[in-house]
Amino acid sequence: MSEPSVEMLEGRTFDVLVVGAGANGSATAEALAIAGYAVLLVERSDFGSGTSSRSSRMLHCGFRSLEGAAGKSLWQHLTQLPDRLALLKSAREQLAARADFVGAMPHRVRPVTIVMPLFRGGVGGMQMDTAAALLALLGTGGIPLDYKRLKADNLDDLPFAEWLLPRHDLAGVVTFRDYVFDWPERVCADQALAAERLGAEVRNYTSVNALRQMPDGQWSATLRDEMNGAEATVAARMVLNLAGPWIDSVTGLVSAETPQRIAASKGVQIGVALPERYKDHGLVAATDKGAFVCIPSQGLHLIGATNSKFTGDPSKAAATDAEINDLLARANALLPGIGLDRSAVCYAIAGVRPGSRGSSGRIVHDHAADGLPGLVSVTGGTVATSRQTAKSLLRLVVQQLKVSRPKAGSAPPNVLEAGRGAADATAFAAEHARTIADVALRRTGEAWSTDFNEQTIQDIAASLGASNGWDQARIAKAISDFRAELAELYRRDLGSVSSPQTDISRSTACPS
Ligand SMILES: Cc1cc2nc3c(=O)[nH]c(=O)nc-3n(C[C@H](O)[C@H](O)[C@H](O)COP(=O)(O)OP(=O)(O)OC[C@H]3O[C@@H](n4cnc5c(N)ncnc54)[C@H](O)[C@@H]3O)c2cc1C
Repeated sequence: MSEPSVEMLEGRTFDVLVVGAGANGSATAEALAIAGYAVLLVERSDFGSGTSSRSSRMLHCGFRSLEGAAGKSLWQHLTQLPDRLALLKSAREQLAARADFVGAMPHRVRPVTIVMPLFRGGVGGMQMDTAAALLALLGTGGIPLDYKRLKADNLDDLPFAEWLLPRHDLAGVVTFRDYVFDWPERVCADQALAAERLGAEVRNYTSVNALRQMPDGQWSATLRDEMNGAEATVAARMVLNLAGPWIDSVTGLVSAETPQRIAASKGVQIGVALPERYKDHGLVAATDKGAFVCIPSQGLHLIGATNSKFTGDPSKAAATDAEINDLLARANALLPGIGLDRSAVCYAIAGVRPGSRGSSGRIVHDHAADGLPGLVSVTGGTVATSRQTAKSLLRLVVQQLKVSRPKAGSAPPNVLEAGRGAADATAFAAEHARTIADVALRRTGEAWSTDFNEQTIQDIAASLGASNGWDQARIAKAISDFRAELAELYRRDLGSVSSPQTDISRSTACPS
């Protein structure tokens, strides 16, 4: 059963066109569909395949927002009061986002204990105690912080302690509870598919490649089916440009004069196997090269992230050898006992952060100010705050547009909600999976599991082939395309994920 052609949409009018089905676009499409708007959500590639699939997967509790205030004197705090208030606001938003996500999608997040080392001359224990008290005062939405401070001589067998203790400047650690999205790609697919079940028109592999405002104020968009080149033109009363790092290219379709809003930065992370007992623990540390994180994800730990200015096509961002080596050097310097080398790296991913120019936070850009009413873009929105972004955009749409349908309830459950093992050709088709990568990386998540192997790839290819009527040559091409994508974008060798590693001490190697 192949996907209906984009031409079926020719001439249709929607209340809102949402461009991009990353965390922000998919959450917003779902919120608008629940509110009763006629929504068209289009994604040039697959749901969640953009920056949302490259994040460190953290649902922060707010400590990182307060980091900028740590280590400053009372005088500095008073003279920089507006900045300090902005940090508090950001911490409060992080706490609200955490509570909201955990409440709404408990099956897509999991709690982890974060270990944060305190070094002599750096942020002190008392400052961390104050920050923890402040977070508790701001309100954790019923989700405990589980904050503890431990002295260096009292770490017992706390994960990471064995690798930190060789450092003579270690004063102690604090631990607290954060959450991780084991799988943000699936969060995006869940939300896009929920929007569809609520009546939205939802298409992956469909790009907006022309956009103009018509004399009556409505927007006209030309859509292109990226699989077969077919085109259709649709109209929308409003356009929400949630194209992540591609936001400026979408506004550029309207006018080359529209000011650039994105400050793009590239972040690379490496996946390494740590001992089994580390699986519920992560580490974050402030270093002179920026924040360092080591976060459990899908049976491995993600170490990152680099942060460098990025220009170019975000879909081509890939980790270089120099970036991988830099992360290994940073991990070995911070954790002298860990002894990581290139053999430890199972894969490396790169993403481009869609940061806001001139600000570290999220900005909603209403392009009415650029003479383009009805066009709105968002920069600086993270996966963690995407549900908050969706709520802000819904409020903005409600101010400008009447709903055209009755308000919907919540969406019925997903076909693949049951998770791994429930996957078959019917489910793949219902979830718009078109390639092996769509299935293995973003629908079932099998590619992230430690027992992913050649047979699983063959099985997925056969299922897709059966539902799409592929011949043997087409199936073989699908397999080689998948391998090429893993090699290019994930620096991943399939031979490196076949069995879990249960114990390592000083020397690590990716299981093979
Ligand atoms: C290294 C790194 C670490 C990070 N760590 C975290 C973290 O721990 N926690 C956290 O919450 N966030 C983190 N982030 C940030 C987070 O990943 C991003 O801010 C977030 O994913 C942005 O989501 P988005 O929906 O705006 O963009 P995207 O996920 O990029 O989605 C935009 C989509 O738009 C589509 N698109 C583009 N142009 C078009 C077009 N013309 N037509 C149709 N579709 C189009 C793209 O294909 C893409 O899928 C991290 C980011 C990086 C790079």
